[in-house]
Amino acid sequence: MRIVMATGNPGKLTEFKKLLEDLDMEILTMREIGLNPGDIVEDGTTFEENARKKAEFVGAKEDTIVIADDSGLEIDALGGEPGIYSARYLGEDTPQSVVNATVVKKLEGLHGEERACRFHTFMVVLFPDGEEYVSQGTLEGQISEEVRGEGGFGYDPVFYMPAYGLTMAELGTDFKNTVSHRSIATKKAAEKIREWLDTHSK
Ligand code: IMP
Repeated sequence: MRIVMATGNPGKLTEFKKLLEDLDMEILTMREIGLNPGDIVEDGTTFEENARKKAEFVGAKEDTIVIADDSGLEIDALGGEPGIYSARYLGEDTPQSVVNATVVKKLEGLHGEERACRFHTFMVVLFPDGEEYVSQGTLEGQISEEVRGEGGFGYDPVFYMPAYGLTMAELGTDFKNTVSHRSIATKKAAEKIREWLDTHSK
């Protein structure tokens, strides 16, 4: 039995491999089994629906354990935007630095809790017997008053954690991996896979 991740993102693969390293299983990206992430139509209206679409796309082609996730940033003052559109909020071709500067500008004049936001991850695991498992992870923060830091990716330079007085891009990847929305969802999914394998190997 091997595990296939419905992603083209090597960072996600590395994180998952680390959490399941004791199982000694082969964990591959969809690209490594000849599938193109660009062929998945992400037209769901929620993170969960989009994660399920990715998992089912791979599950339909490969009879094994499949994992998929969908994530994004929700900003209260913007009515929950960019949400499921986080990756293409101002269009596919707009650099993230421009997106981040725009987000900061949109929140001008707001302070503290008025700048509340959170990262969400939904993760769907499909098992070869048809069982489905969904896990979720959330990380609360605030939109920073300026773009700060070089680490991470996406909205990390504007995701401020008041408890530390730093943005996620300043806090760095090692710290992020211990607290992030994705690592919370990933840990739960890894635990479920461990249980499933345990039950089904008897
Ligand atoms: P994905 O579904 O994990 O590919 O995430 C979609 C988009 O949400 C990304 O392109 C980023 O813009 C944003 N995003 C998700 N997770 C993070 C994160 O941990 N840091 C910063 N941005 C993120």
